[in-house]
Amino acid sequence: MMDRSGIVGNRLLAMLPPADFGLLSPYLQKISLEQDAGLMRTGDRIEQIYFPHSGAISFMLDMTNGQTVATAVVGHDGAVGILSVLGPARSSVTAVVRVAGTASQIPASRFLAAFRQSSAIREAVQAHTRALLVQFQHGAACNALHPVESRAARWLLHIHDLIDRDDLPLTQESLSQLLGVRRTTVTQVIQKLRADGVVRSERRGLIEIDRPRLEKAACECYEIMRDKTEHIMHESTEAPNDDAPVRAAPDAAG
Ligand SMILES: [Zn+2]
Repeated sequence: MMDRSGIVGNRLLAMLPPADFGLLSPYLQKISLEQDAGLMRTGDRIEQIYFPHSGAISFMLDMTNGQTVATAVVGHDGAVGILSVLGPARSSVTAVVRVAGTASQIPASRFLAAFRQSSAIREAVQAHTRALLVQFQHGAACNALHPVESRAARWLLHIHDLIDRDDLPLTQESLSQLLGVRRTTVTQVIQKLRADGVVRSERRGLIEIDRPRLEKAACECYEIMRDKTEHIMHESTEAPNDDAPVRAAPDAAG
């Protein structure tokens, strides 16, 4: 059991009125997310949904030849496995912890039951889905149109937003998987970013960044994606909610 004060770390859970959060709280279990742990694999049935409080998790698309590329990164702003409410499909991605942290997990079946009962939970899922679509769609355009240094800068900025420390615990192997490029390319990218003062140092799996310079090095995609996502989240927190906040069983007839 968790009280509400224990979950303000996750933005989606924090959006929920107390009564709606109460549908989930008996089943939420706090866990730690270990770096490089796989939360789900492509083809797995989604058994658990994770609401991170800290850390960063990437959604990876695995190609048949062993190559991988990231399609999205989520942290305290989102969830992993939440699209399981769309239907009993198996996971289309592998979710890997890139930066260690903590999360609340809930069995997918419990979450689905609450989702059916609560319009506030449905709105939170809708907001998160829209935010993910921004990452998928804009990310596809960025991957096709923008150079690898700019894309690397975009991922570093995104992860910096989630963990809020200037030395990002990312290995070159991790960056190579996120970007879908070879290790040798990552080495060249880091050398270029270091020469430009964007990366201050890179050793023992820690990449120390200069945030203002990193923003200049990234393509416009970072800012566009961040602004669109913020807009979506504000819209849903400010949306007029015709349910009384303490109504016990909203939408029982729906
Ligand atoms: Zn771009």
